[in-house]
Amino acid sequence: MPNRSLSRRGLAATAVVCSALVGGGVAYAATTPEPAIKTFTPRSADQVTNIDVLRQQIRNYYGDPLGTGTFGPDSNYVREATSVARDAGRWLSARGHERGEDRHHHRGQKAIVLDVDDTTLTTWNYEVASNWAYNPTTNGEYVTGQRFPATPGMVDLVKKAKREGYAVFFLTGRPSSQEAATLGNLTSDGVGVDAGYPAPTTLRNGEDGLFTKPDVSAYPGYLQKACAADPGGKCTTIHYKSATRAHIESIGYDIVANLGDQYSDLKGGYADRTFKVPNPNYYLP
Ligand SMILES: [Mg+2]
Repeated sequence: MPNRSLSRRGLAATAVVCSALVGGGVAYAATTPEPAIKTFTPRSADQVTNIDVLRQQIRNYYGDPLGTGTFGPDSNYVREATSVARDAGRWLSARGHERGEDRHHHRGQKAIVLDVDDTTLTTWNYEVASNWAYNPTTNGEYVTGQRFPATPGMVDLVKKAKREGYAVFFLTGRPSSQEAATLGNLTSDGVGVDAGYPAPTTLRNGEDGLFTKPDVSAYPGYLQKACAADPGGKCTTIHYKSATRAHIESIGYDIVANLGDQYSDLKGGYADRTFKVPNPNYYLP
């Protein structure tokens, strides 16, 4: 969740810093910092939920009223996440059974794309431990320790997709430096939690099917191009994810379903249908 740092500071550089040569000198346009999250301004404190009460409501939702960091198996969170996974499974099966005419409308091998944090691995333990205050250092300890359990319903979904002939791709904003630990947590390497997912599909061009976010200096051409106008040439989440999906489809895959817990996972196209996984803990623009 590296991109969370921006939102957690409350500001995003939504205004591009423009510099242009004017009359031989460098002119800098004024920047207008804006909050990353657009929402209403309460007229009264009664219009918002007290943040401590809200934290308790979220603990209750996860079936963990005392905040132990382990979500309850009979919680509303588990029920909702499992329901999303089942909906996605029904959609994949329906699309997988298309014949003749319908099938010809779609090009390439069928594929499913899934986000990692709070879509396939649930970070509830970290939310509780950090009291919902994301910190890249402490979060990194959970990531490299491979401490996250599978999101309910999702392992069954991915196994079913694989059985039905789908290519399986994971697409996360975690940095490339965390790729090995992420793969180890998702699959089986005997370190920390092994969530039990099938291995991601290797693409036809030899790329591995777990897409992590490279440093700007290591961007492939498709990210350089898609994100050239983003601040510092660094992809926003929406641009990073949609450009990666476009890249996947350009190689000969048809992304039938895209699952994510953030709207920024789902915007920008290149999927026949999107599925929103519940996550009341944070918002990533
Ligand atoms: Mg996520």
